[in-house]
Amino acid sequence: MSGMSGRIYGKVDSEVLNRLMETLGEGNVKTDVVERYAYSTDASLFSSLPEVVVTPKNTSQVVEVIRIASEKRIPVTPRGGGTGLCGGAVPVHGGIVIDLSGMSRILEVDLDNFCVTVEAGITPERLNKELAKHGFFFPPSPGSKKMCTIGGMIATNAGGMHAVKYGVTRNFVLGLKVVIPPGEVLSLGGKVLKRCLGYDLIQLIVGSEGTLGVVTEAILRILPLPERSAVVVAYFKDGASAAKAVNAVLRQVIPSAIEILDERSIEAVNRYVPSLNLPKAGAVLYFEIDGSEQEVERQLEVIIDACRTHGGETEWTSDPKEKERLLAGREIVGGAIMNVDRRRVRVYEAEDVCVPLAQLPRFIEEVHRISERYGIPVCIYGHAGDGNCHSGIMIDPTSQEEWEKMRAMAREIYELAVRLGGNISGEHGIGLLRADYMESIHGSSLRIMRKIKEAFDPQGILNPGKMSL
Ligand SMILES: Cc1cc2nc3c(=O)[nH]c(=O)nc-3n(C[C@H](O)[C@H](O)[C@H](O)COP(=O)(O)OP(=O)(O)OC[C@H]3O[C@@H](n4cnc5c(N)ncnc54)[C@H](O)[C@@H]3O)c2cc1C
Repeated sequence: MSGMSGRIYGKVDSEVLNRLMETLGEGNVKTDVVERYAYSTDASLFSSLPEVVVTPKNTSQVVEVIRIASEKRIPVTPRGGGTGLCGGAVPVHGGIVIDLSGMSRILEVDLDNFCVTVEAGITPERLNKELAKHGFFFPPSPGSKKMCTIGGMIATNAGGMHAVKYGVTRNFVLGLKVVIPPGEVLSLGGKVLKRCLGYDLIQLIVGSEGTLGVVTEAILRILPLPERSAVVVAYFKDGASAAKAVNAVLRQVIPSAIEILDERSIEAVNRYVPSLNLPKAGAVLYFEIDGSEQEVERQLEVIIDACRTHGGETEWTSDPKEKERLLAGREIVGGAIMNVDRRRVRVYEAEDVCVPLAQLPRFIEEVHRISERYGIPVCIYGHAGDGNCHSGIMIDPTSQEEWEKMRAMAREIYELAVRLGGNISGEHGIGLLRADYMESIHGSSLRIMRKIKEAFDPQGILNPGKMSL
């Protein structure tokens, strides 16, 4: 079989299957078409059937799978929770999907060194439940935290709502165990917080979307749980006033989350769950704050004052149940915009651009203009504290014309973000969805990326077809 990059790949034949079964046990090698179908897609619109799915239980088994794949030049696609939004875990060249979700043990909680060692398949939610018993937490918190895995988060450098204060996944990775072709284990880093030891391969693996190696274990930095937390919600007449309030807040304090919903997103939430009854507004901001008693008091004062100064109407609470109620609009907005209009579906394209903070109001305004010009509704919501906006373009999937318009709109939104000094993906990644943009956004540094890829994976068997490598 010939790959998109012109490479010739081997097939999974009976000899390969027998060797996989010997290594992993029959129950961990899935060839049934129904089971394979479940692994043919992720949370994107892409799909392609793998020839076989394997579910290893330890690093040695992953090593054996990579060894067999290397010998036969069979493509290998690592997979965690399959929540990726850009086709990263879709096996476009068939071959072997390695499902890491069964490797989900916590190997060590080391509170004295503020770190935890985990297998790649654990979800951040389960990790945080365990850590909470010790009074600690792992801050990166994507909206998919119940389903995605730490391995997937590392591979996509996942962000989420709390990046504004705590940073993204890469800021918490101290060490990694990574399997690379032709079956070698790299043990990178350790429990130390600082290192200056040549090229940082850990940070190279973070965000590499399964194209350089299979992450099987990670040492992650953890923090003590904050003493107190609270939520402030503020409604504004327009996005520009909300953005000014964000700027005024960030000059004084750093909340753990600052999220925004535009007018159309607010309407979508109200239509989806009418009982929430969010006030009619041009934009709403959700602030999460945490810290010591005094820090939370100070942040509350600053945020409420800044929002009121810019015309915002505020509500706040530190009661856990009330916090859930106040944050509900932000929690459900993804589902809500899927149901804005029964004839329309949300397409994940241009859904993750990141712009410099000062450009956020202009970005929102211009996307609304693009939406009007094409006659296709767009809801905008996302992480106002770091400029990472999720635009939900909603089209009639039966209309070829709307698909074409959507692609043209997406291109305009990407170009707009770049023109404003931003980028085409803040946290979801490249995968298949944005692979065609790699050349134009990276220019000659794509050549260096391709050389790095070759150094790790000379046969090009690891997640081929992704990131235009
Ligand atoms: C409802 C929803 C909300 C979301 N919210 C956020 C958000 O707030 N912030 C955010 O950043 N993302 C978000 N995402 C996107 C997605 O959840 C993240 O990208 C997540 O990190 C993917 O993890 P996963 O385990 O599902 O990975 P998968 O989808 O299985 O894989 C993603 C990529 O990582 C690679 N990979 C997976 N595991 C490994 C491994 N062990 N070793 C090497 N490569 C591996 C795959 O090959 C693929 O390229 C959201 C998605 C959904 C559906």
